[in-house]
Amino acid sequence: MELKQFIKEEGSRLGFLKTGVAAAEYDPVHHDKLLNWIKNRYHASMGYLERETRKRFDPRIHLPDASSVIVCGHNYYTDPTNDPESGYVSIYARGEDYRIVLEEKLKELCGRIANKYGKFNFRIFVDTSPISEKTLAVKAGLGFIGRNSLVIIPKFKINGSIYKGSFHFLGVIVTDLRLEPDEPVKGTCGKCRRCIDSCPTGAILEDCTIDAIKCISYHTTSNRGEIPEDIAAKMNNIVIGCDICQLTCPYNNKPVETSDTRFIAKDFLSKFDIGAFLNMTEQQFNRQFRDTVLYDKGFEKIRAHALIVSRNIGR
Ligand code: SF4
Ligand code: SF4
Repeated sequence: MELKQFIKEEGSRLGFLKTGVAAAEYDPVHHDKLLNWIKNRYHASMGYLERETRKRFDPRIHLPDASSVIVCGHNYYTDPTNDPESGYVSIYARGEDYRIVLEEKLKELCGRIANKYGKFNFRIFVDTSPISEKTLAVKAGLGFIGRNSLVIIPKFKINGSIYKGSFHFLGVIVTDLRLEPDEPVKGTCGKCRRCIDSCPTGAILEDCTIDAIKCISYHTTSNRGEIPEDIAAKMNNIVIGCDICQLTCPYNNKPVETSDTRFIAKDFLSKFDIGAFLNMTEQQFNRQFRDTVLYDKGFEKIRAHALIVSRNIGR
């Protein structure tokens, strides 16, 4: 079997929705776009984005003999229950920490390739090192970038069901394997502006990027400082993430549940009990949240969000 076909089939066996290939070459267009975004200070306190910007768009800096980039998308959708009397945890954060799960699967994929075709060089990325997973996903034919800045997979048939939407994680393998790149897929938001109209803070810009200073998801995941009062007031019951601009997107109107049980929502995250959390000690938090994304944010940060939610919803 041809190597690329083998990679796609094994990717699918491991539970990935879609696996594509991009050439490992410099992408000046998206690099310029990032520089422009930074110039406008839309990156808020994420100063790390200013450093080594080219690295995000040139896979060969990570692996000098790189020839191809394998990009894998993994569905994480589970029922987005939102009890207004509880805290809201973004869907992506309700199961086990995706970085660990995806890295494990990508390592397994590389192991299967090596078993069949022999040793090769590779590096795996899952939100851990500076590389632009989103623009590589577009180049690898997974989807297009919607106005909400996320990679949207247009209608796609997999194992007898239809998938479309943006509820997927992205994982990347930069490798010296020589693979034929896939064609980018056609897709567009058309005249739709639902995400822009539904964003409670007006954070979505006209060029399919986000003004992080206004984005609730940025403030609850990446802002290490205090959340400004105007944003806190609009968080409603959000503890981490946001999801509003995804849930209103028509591409997400018929979501398919994830097949990986590790992404199934944990009860204490799909209904985040604010009162119980505020009575919790750091040791209890460490025990209960250890394998989740919230653990990485730390007890004090999640507690600060829980206090905001407590004030917003009166609990
Ligand atoms: S995540 Fe929330 S705040 Fe951020 S752009 Fe989307 S809807 Fe707006
Ligand atoms: S809500 Fe509409 S405009 Fe926004 S990303 Fe989805 S399709 Fe595009």
